Amino acid sequence: MNLEKPSGWLIDGKGDTNLVQLHEYFCNRYGTDFFAGLSIFELNFIDKDLQPYVQQSDVVLNAILTRALKHENILEPVRLAWSNNMRFNALAMPKFNGTHFIVINIGVVPILQSLYGQLMSSPTFRPDIGNIAIEIPQEKIKIRNDISGVVALGPKDGPKCPIRRAFASMLASEASKFLLLHEFTHIAHGHVSPNTPLVEIAGESDLADNIQSHTLEMDADAGAVVKSFNELIGFFERDLQPETVEQKRIANLKVYLGSGLIPCIETLSLMLSGLFALFPIKVVTRENMFHGKHPQAVVRLLMAFAVIESHILRSKTDMPASDIQNAVGRSLKDFYMEIDLSEGANNVLRSGSALAMEENEIGYVRALKKCWASDLYPILNARKLTSTELAPPTE
Ligand SMILES: [Zn+2]
Repeated sequence: MNLEKPSGWLIDGKGDTNLVQLHEYFCNRYGTDFFAGLSIFELNFIDKDLQPYVQQSDVVLNAILTRALKHENILEPVRLAWSNNMRFNALAMPKFNGTHFIVINIGVVPILQSLYGQLMSSPTFRPDIGNIAIEIPQEKIKIRNDISGVVALGPKDGPKCPIRRAFASMLASEASKFLLLHEFTHIAHGHVSPNTPLVEIAGESDLADNIQSHTLEMDADAGAVVKSFNELIGFFERDLQPETVEQKRIANLKVYLGSGLIPCIETLSLMLSGLFALFPIKVVTRENMFHGKHPQAVVRLLMAFAVIESHILRSKTDMPASDIQNAVGRSLKDFYMEIDLSEGANNVLRSGSALAMEENEIGYVRALKKCWASDLYPILNARKLTSTELAPPTE
């Protein structure tokens, strides 16, 4: 065994034995090259500056994880671990020492804060929230989404208005929850085979493999969308009884956002538009729809919107589909109005025409559905952890 010394934060042996062993297992099994620089650590080992950020995310995400496990009746342990490997955003691990691990890249947290912070700093963006008079007009946001799904955004102070700052934090927090719930769904729905890690990085393989991988990714996205929606609707439908300063700040924010379904859809759509804009974006064509192990970011975004719509229509039969579509469309437009389209983000718009062709979308969905029903369902059903009946990701 030749363990490369991980860069950045180190495991020095004083930490959780399980995590140290997991790291060794990674390097042994998959090679130090593939996981070069990977370290999994306890929060105590993180740089002092980052600690408050990550500690807060750690608390929030662990609370979500606990609720999700309870909701799905999962008794096997699933734990959250943080890593500093920039080659993936997050991953779901095969069971190790009796525990399932979800590993999230520590870099994701400040990136999300920065993206939504810049967005809310712009007085032209969602002028209905807080006091835009104190925000300074800014240039359009440049997203450099070319390094394995991770974007380098310039440091910014974030919005000056505390209400706008609160909304930026809320969006960043929802986005990190989505990443967690995506990995959680991979584990809960039996996507992770005992021998292979499901790593959220790009790679090439043959068409059948890709379709299978796309189907699992869409299933994980669909699960995360539904769970994110169910979490968020509680916020928008419940009457808040603020006690702490933090709760008062959030209650104030709700005065601007409003209550009920529409602001919930807008917030979720906005979060998703931002999150998927951070992934590498190619122009989607009929020919390249199934390239790579992961679906194209634009396709994932559109499928996520479709899941929001069908999830709501299942329970709120009196809701016109057009109301949902309008709320989604408004948020997407609001977001892209603030983005510099000379960068890769422009590919979202260029892809629009290929995806608007119904036959392409139907062809894509049909391929996933067929794969799910004939190839994947029997395996997933035998391997799933959740007591909930599985359904195709496209329904
Ligand atoms: Zn995934």
